[in-house]
Amino acid sequence: MGRPVIPRSTVNPCKDASAPAPSWWPLDPAKTAGEIAWVKCPNGHVTTLHQRVHRVDADGVVSPSYVCTAYGCNWHVFVRLDGFGEGRP
Ligand SMILES: [Zn+2]
Repeated sequence: MGRPVIPRSTVNPCKDASAPAPSWWPLDPAKTAGEIAWVKCPNGHVTTLHQRVHRVDADGVVSPSYVCTAYGCNWHVFVRLDGFGEGRP
């Protein structure tokens, strides 16, 4: 099974509906009480990656797998965040 590579959005998916699905947007865990990133799933739901649950390696590999928590969504994947570690906004 391949590991989908999620592109980094150029706009904040919480503020701009034009963010691609899927995509991700970096957050600074030091400023967000541990939230690492926003992730927009292919079905358009925006949820967070949190340090309590996930770790993201320097190459963007997320572990454990990512589960969209929106009601009725079945997106459950092992993902890599493209461009992770290339700096934060
Ligand atoms: Zn979803």
